[in-house]
Amino acid sequence: MALKLADYKTDVHNDWCPGCGDFGILNAIQMALFDMHIPHHRAAIFSGIGCSGKTPHFIHTYGIHTLHGRVLPFAQGAKLSNPELEILAVGGDGDGLGIGAGHFVAAGRRNVDMVYIIFNNGVYGLTKGQAAPTLKLGMKTKSLSQPNVNNSVNPISLALIAGFSFIARGYSYDVRHLKDIIRKAIEHKGLAFLDILQPCPTYNDINTREWFQGLDNINPKTDMQMPRTYKLEEAGYDGVIHKEDEINDKMAQVIEKSNEWDNKIPIGIFYQNEHIPTYQERILARIPDYIENPPSKQAVSDQNNKSITSIDKLLTDLRVDK
Ligand code: SF4
Repeated sequence: MALKLADYKTDVHNDWCPGCGDFGILNAIQMALFDMHIPHHRAAIFSGIGCSGKTPHFIHTYGIHTLHGRVLPFAQGAKLSNPELEILAVGGDGDGLGIGAGHFVAAGRRNVDMVYIIFNNGVYGLTKGQAAPTLKLGMKTKSLSQPNVNNSVNPISLALIAGFSFIARGYSYDVRHLKDIIRKAIEHKGLAFLDILQPCPTYNDINTREWFQGLDNINPKTDMQMPRTYKLEEAGYDGVIHKEDEINDKMAQVIEKSNEWDNKIPIGIFYQNEHIPTYQERILARIPDYIENPPSKQAVSDQNNKSITSIDKLLTDLRVDK
């Protein structure tokens, strides 16, 4: 029987604050899974800790709520164990770019074929709005007693330098555009990173929905408000690496675009490079039957329920001095 969009929702009570941008991201993920007809048992959503950490509870797929900053090791391990699963990892900017920053950089080097989504609101919402890694220097949200004393991380540039092979940004209130980006990220061959701008109306009273809509950003010529986000694809930008000899130029344009902020914030695909082998392809070069016989399909016990697992064969297969 064909799945309906409603089939991707659960009846778990959702206590996100009214108006939270998390709702738009949740809807976009469900819409992308529905659009792609991905069966429930073929997808797994992993989360870290934070308001966004509750996301897997609300999506009818496998869901794993992991540890603060550690969502990527869990999610990568699942994908390597069962390459048939579509894996999405989610978390906040504090979770992924604060305590999880080391895993973020290491993941870029591996290029495991999966998607990592950061719900980026500049604050630690779950713990009352402390400044998170993407909050700009000098910003004073209503939950801070003093302006932010730290400079901010640029998630797009960091992902590029770390080696992510698909990098995009979405906006949580532009749900259809966001759904299309999530779909392209899932279809991408390699590790995709999505930086989703997500107002937190409870603790970030600066980057609000009204701010993104440009209520205070008036065009002096027309006297009309100008939305702060614009779509890269509508501005003639092409982030796809069509030939390997254009990588340096395209990386430079990603850095340039990623520094745009304030009154002109790009959303869309910044970078897509499918010329980098995925981690699964690298493993396959060493273990020829990896795809047919991944760890998830291997027996772990005999008919008497006695463990037959041994890490010796795996370690032998992966020896670097063979
Ligand atoms: Fe959303 Fe902020 Fe409320 Fe968390 S604290 S649920 S991020 S509005």
